[in-house]
Amino acid sequence: MSVAASTLHESENPWRNAQSQFDAAAGLLGLEPRLCAVLREVRREFTVRFPVQMDDGSVRMFTGYRVQHNTTRGPAKGGIRFHPECSLDEVKALAMWMTWKCALANLPFGGAKGGVIVDPAELSHHELERLTRRFATEITVLIGPESDIPAPDVNTSAEIMAWIMDTLSMEAGHSVPAVVTGKPIDIGGSEGRHRATGRGVTVVTLEACRCLGMEPATTTVAVQGFGNVGSVSAQLMHEEGFRVCAISDVTGGVHDPAGLDIPAILEHRRAGGTLATLTGLRRVSNQSLLELPVDVLVPAALESQITAANAARIQARLIVEGANGPTTTEADHVLERRGVVVVPDILANAGGVTVSYFEWVQDLQSFFWEEPEINRRLEAVMRRGFAQMVEAAQAHTVSWRMGAYLVAVQRVADATAVRGIYP
Ligand code: NAD
Repeated sequence: MSVAASTLHESENPWRNAQSQFDAAAGLLGLEPRLCAVLREVRREFTVRFPVQMDDGSVRMFTGYRVQHNTTRGPAKGGIRFHPECSLDEVKALAMWMTWKCALANLPFGGAKGGVIVDPAELSHHELERLTRRFATEITVLIGPESDIPAPDVNTSAEIMAWIMDTLSMEAGHSVPAVVTGKPIDIGGSEGRHRATGRGVTVVTLEACRCLGMEPATTTVAVQGFGNVGSVSAQLMHEEGFRVCAISDVTGGVHDPAGLDIPAILEHRRAGGTLATLTGLRRVSNQSLLELPVDVLVPAALESQITAANAARIQARLIVEGANGPTTTEADHVLERRGVVVVPDILANAGGVTVSYFEWVQDLQSFFWEEPEINRRLEAVMRRGFAQMVEAAQAHTVSWRMGAYLVAVQRVADATAVRGIYP
């Protein structure tokens, strides 16, 4: 579980991990100290406390955050999550990772993230809408099509993006579709956005397997987290011929070494079922799923899942980080020593922000593309990012994670240097 930063073991604090990853890359690049000083901090961190009227007439106070790490290469971009254990340190880390992710994919965006401390499962639909609209209003000073563009993340959806878009549009007096991405198609959302992150995960998994000489038909996969990213990844990998043996959500998971029938499980979920109500399958806990004897592990839930405590027991040969920050820095060192290859989050889950970029461009031009065009462009961005990561890693004899960081950090550093330090 991701838990509030104050109660975390310091090595599992995502902000500490994000900064230590940056420090390692900056050291290898020999970045000037003044650039390091700028890039290792967030530009803006905004905390809001706001009231929401509950259905019974009572009022509850909530805390939310919007953080912009860097806006040198373009408007800030990053999702909003609703989670009871959301913290400012978590949001800062996620904002920094967005900066590197956008730079590696070469999108003209900086990095941001937002979050509200709330368990949405405890709210009615109307309460959730009121909370969303009030939070959107609270962060209006920061967000906008040219300044900062939110998107869905953990526990937020296309519908929640529609409420944010509508709130900002009502305040502006006209429709502002480009203020958020991941919206429903009816109001300027993009074809292919819902499946974009999972599609990107699948594209880089195929690329990594090719590098490692692994064939999908003989490759087993475990996916932790069966939300947007995890379920689409499992589905598309299944379609590519991988044997997806284990999946899980917050309630736990299911495991079948012979391979799960992913389409049937998705059908069960569409019919209102959950992983907990699946019958006839072996149960597996979230922790033991990570340690199953599979070839590929896709953590697609939350941060700090692979830590110094379990890294030595991971049996997968390849880890593809669907989630942001699932591996702590200490765990990364253990995995590297053991020869476990990691496709890092800033590449692996960049498919979402890539199609968000396409959505923003389509909204600004009021000109919409067909899904095959979007998927083709998405795959090209993912393959280019993968190739640049591998090339940098080989050139410096470092891990793929560090290769990805070298490309991304250098791009943001170059942009910062050429713009100069204002005034
Ligand atoms: P989601 O809310 O759709 O799904 C999250 C899933 O994780 C759910 O199945 C939930 O039950 C499960 N989960 C929660 N806590 C868990 C735990 N302790 N152990 C196991 N499973 C747990 O969220 P999502 O959008 O799929 O995001 C998942 C991860 O991917 C996050 O790290 C997010 O930042 C990252 N991400 C999402 C996108 C996107 O486009 N949605 C893009 C890039 C990265």
